[in-house]
Amino acid sequence: MIGVAVLGSTGSIGESTLDVLARHPDRFRVVALAANRSASKLAQQVIQWKPDYAVLADESAVDELKERLSRAGLTTRILAGESGLIEAASLPEAQYVMAAIVGAAGLRSTFAAVRAGKRVMLANKESLVMAGPLLISAARASGATLLPVDSEHSAIFQCLPPNTRAGEKPPGVRRVLLTASGGPFLDWPLEALASCTPEQACAHPNWVMGRKISVDSATLMNKGLELIEAVLLFGLDPAQVEVVVHRQSIVHSLVEYVDGSVLAQLGSPDMRTPIAYALAWPERLGSGVEFLDLIRAARLEFCAPDVERFRCLALAQAAARAGGLQPAILNAANEVAVESFLGRRLNFMGIARVCEAVLARMTGGGACSPQGPGGVQGLSSPQGSIRDLDAVLAADAAARRLASELIPTLEACERGAHA
Ligand code: NDP
Repeated sequence: MIGVAVLGSTGSIGESTLDVLARHPDRFRVVALAANRSASKLAQQVIQWKPDYAVLADESAVDELKERLSRAGLTTRILAGESGLIEAASLPEAQYVMAAIVGAAGLRSTFAAVRAGKRVMLANKESLVMAGPLLISAARASGATLLPVDSEHSAIFQCLPPNTRAGEKPPGVRRVLLTASGGPFLDWPLEALASCTPEQACAHPNWVMGRKISVDSATLMNKGLELIEAVLLFGLDPAQVEVVVHRQSIVHSLVEYVDGSVLAQLGSPDMRTPIAYALAWPERLGSGVEFLDLIRAARLEFCAPDVERFRCLALAQAAARAGGLQPAILNAANEVAVESFLGRRLNFMGIARVCEAVLARMTGGGACSPQGPGGVQGLSSPQGSIRDLDAVLAADAAARRLASELIPTLEACERGAHA
């Protein structure tokens, strides 16, 4: 029996992971479940799975969890806060860790799992975007195995030679083609995007996902973060990662080799396939996914993304080229902007503007900033290599502060322009 800790178990990836695990009770045992503050949902999962540990990052929700579990007669050990997440990620009983917390909040626990030498099934792309080189060298040092869960990166990984290791470019690869569904706004008139609602942005045509990644898919920031993720995971130059819009979401990504061969991975758009692959690798496991019917799918279309409309993709491409702390800065600004959009304090087009302004200010550019040029103290040179995790967290915090400051100004300017 393989012990599995599921971090982010109450989310979309967490639930899909538990669905796959439920199909293989003879092979896996859930040893820890972790969430932020969904006490009631986590309690239901604990009652069903009876793990040794349950974690809530938000300490104010812990009493409710305790009460629900004691009413059910369970003596599960309850952990709280970030230290609880780190403990769950490092448990000796868990050989595998599903890193499926959303956003930068997953960084430290993902790191803990890597340092503890686990098989880390990486859904939390933000931790790789923020601190990829550190995460990959920590995996080398501890012997951890980093396996992608993002469907595109799982597709690429499945098309690469079997001995591929995180951070190393496999021989013979010319480039990878990262497919993007294009999100819900692919055909919307540009003028209409400013007034789209969070509900419209979260209504993805092919995938059912959490709200943050749904908005990222609508802005194409998700594809930008995935581009950075691909560069880091597969040891590629950013120029070797091409984004291709493929609205059917059947071809999950492709690898082009120097001899002209192109290998692709296809399947129904269902995250249980990449999750099952990460759990079973190098073998295969049943996932419950509907098998692909190519005749019914009939059409597979591809086109280039419109980087004028989807500015976030262009920003991520630039951050990938710059490297260093720029991806972490971009990620932090995006998280704050997406939260503001979901809270109706920023319009959809403002997400890219906030990211651009924060990057410009923190890299000393300033051309796009509403408040003029100028770097942020201690971050005058975000380019180049990343010193350590503290440098990443400092950049993240500074970018969040700046984004929060800029949002009211940007939103007021935007409203003025439309008045
Ligand atoms: P959801 O929003 O559905 O779930 C997020 C999970 O993270 C929940 O369990 C939530 O707990 C937990 N969480 C949120 N904040 C914190 C915190 N501060 N500390 C601890 N736990 C926290 O997200 P998804 O499942 O959609 O996405 C998870 C990750 O997987 C993201 O990084 C995303 O980019 C990636 N991913 C998702 C895909 C998908 O299809 N959904 C596809 C590919 C990648 P609570 O319920 O208590 O809030």
